[in-house]
Amino acid sequence: MEQTLSIIKPDAVKKGVVGKIIDRFESNGLRIAAMKKIWLSKADAKQFYIIHKDRPFYNELVSFMVSGPVVVMVLEGDNAVLKNRDLMGATNPKEAKAGTIRADFADNIDANAVHGSDSLENAKIEIAFFFGKREIH
Ligand code: ADP
Ligand code: MG
Repeated sequence: MEQTLSIIKPDAVKKGVVGKIIDRFESNGLRIAAMKKIWLSKADAKQFYIIHKDRPFYNELVSFMVSGPVVVMVLEGDNAVLKNRDLMGATNPKEAKAGTIRADFADNIDANAVHGSDSLENAKIEIAFFFGKREIH
């Protein structure tokens, strides 16, 4: 059993597709172990994406992530990290396979609907960034 972190980004929250995205997880064997709606501060968004700090899109990414509230979840299940990445689809929705969350709900590479941890190691760090042990069930 693995846990991974998922964020429904501001574009998808604004569009009102939170329920549709959560259904993708629950219909594919990922259980919601924790969930909350928050509005990230700029400092938190910068810290969360600190691994991208030298990339040309870092400032845009941070601005986008604070442009509205997000829904943050811990997803749990067999192979949760990879399964979530498969359900999400490619970073650029134009390259995402049909039927993936990004193919169906994302507009472009900046506003691409969801974040998902890319490894078990990062999942642990990202989960601890948002949730205390007593918030995960
Ligand atoms: P993923 O979210 O698929 O793990 P990355 O970790 O590479 O992708 O990038 C983090 C986020 O930064 C992406 O989800 C996307 O919103 C943004 N991003 C990545 N690459 C680009 C790019 N070339 N131009 C603009 N934004 C980008
Ligand atoms: Mg990533």
